[in-house]
Amino acid sequence: MLRSLCFAVLAMALFLAVASTAQTSAPAATPAAIPTTPVANHGAPAFDVNAAVNAYLAKMPPAEKARSDAYFEGGYWLLLWDFLVSAVVMWLLLRFRWSMRMRDLAARITRFSALQTAIYWIQFIVTVSVLTFPMTVYEGYFREHKYGLLNQTFGPWFRDQLVGLGVGVILGGILIIPLFWLVRKLGRSWWVWGAAVTILFFAFVSLIAPVYIAPLFNTYKSLAIAHIKDPILSMARANGIPATDVWEFDASRQSNRVSANVSGFGSTQRISLNDNLLNRCTLPEIETTMGHEMGHYVLNHSYKGLVMIGVVIVIAFAVLDWGIGFSLARWGEGWGVRDIKDVAVLPLAFLIFSAYGFLTTPVSNTITRSMEFEADMYGLNAARQPDGEANVDLMLGEYRKMEPGPVEEFLFFDHPSGRTRITAAMRWKAENPETASPEEMSREVFKTQ
Ligand SMILES: [Zn+2]
Repeated sequence: MLRSLCFAVLAMALFLAVASTAQTSAPAATPAAIPTTPVANHGAPAFDVNAAVNAYLAKMPPAEKARSDAYFEGGYWLLLWDFLVSAVVMWLLLRFRWSMRMRDLAARITRFSALQTAIYWIQFIVTVSVLTFPMTVYEGYFREHKYGLLNQTFGPWFRDQLVGLGVGVILGGILIIPLFWLVRKLGRSWWVWGAAVTILFFAFVSLIAPVYIAPLFNTYKSLAIAHIKDPILSMARANGIPATDVWEFDASRQSNRVSANVSGFGSTQRISLNDNLLNRCTLPEIETTMGHEMGHYVLNHSYKGLVMIGVVIVIAFAVLDWGIGFSLARWGEGWGVRDIKDVAVLPLAFLIFSAYGFLTTPVSNTITRSMEFEADMYGLNAARQPDGEANVDLMLGEYRKMEPGPVEEFLFFDHPSGRTRITAAMRWKAENPETASPEEMSREVFKTQ
């Protein structure tokens, strides 16, 4: 769902792609960085971490591994293609003066500048969505079906896209109208305040997302299964989380992917788990997943993420201000774009943002991957289910390559790879041998695939 939303909310997508450059030097959470030598346990045979990791990896059938690798590696190229398609569309809007015409139409309809911006924005987002639709339908529908990762037929899938577009029209308007107001009022210093408004906008979207946006795509309800809910709430209390409820949502509407998340901001923060997790996983696997999500919550990852995104947004706006000035001086007249105050400049702004976001993808990936690894460690300590964790990591391998090279993981992974996560789980298990679970170790994870 996040992807369809992001696609529609183009402004958001670009900022999210840029997300967080503060920790460029943060090391990738590779297992090689930490010793994995066997640990002697009071005379018991040493637990061989690497052998335990390999035993888990061997549970994945070769055909399944090949499918997952092909799917994920194809995603590397999609990063490039998505950027190029978006760049070409923005260039077309400028070069053939479609952007200029949209602005002129808006000016004929109303003389109020805020309304003109809104009317331009609707024309812009609809045009861009139509022009990029072949890419969207390939990437989000046909390709997902090809790899067996989408449960939707075309009708419901297309309905989700339209809803995403509607959300994009409204949220994008809420951001773009004040941004252009700032440009017109403040002149040269607009970009500093523009960055501040954008940071506030992100906090606002996070705040309303679980209540007003997520329910447009899935049905959320209180988790009713007591033997699952009770241990989760117990773990929440033990970790100082004031939760009285756990949410469940019907992710199986879209796919069979196992997942859970923390969403919201301030009073709307909540932990939700998807029905695939409930249907496909054992209690230890659910517990370790919820421990991971509680880690995001306790470690304040949404606030830290906003601070890091804030740094990136300020840099992005400085680059934007410079890039617009540079480009308009050369090509502005040919495009029919008057100056930075002219709403017809928007395709250029998107082009600059997407180039910046594309180039900084490894940085934003490293930030999220580092936080995900922290949440993994928190989850292991909270749930104490290293074997359950390893099995969930295998399930995530259905759509994320299990064993990338270190450079590949650094560049392309927004979560740690399966091998990294299972290694962390087995290293933890080596130090806590009493938590070993023979049932989890022998469980066939892929039998129904
Ligand atoms: Zn996570």
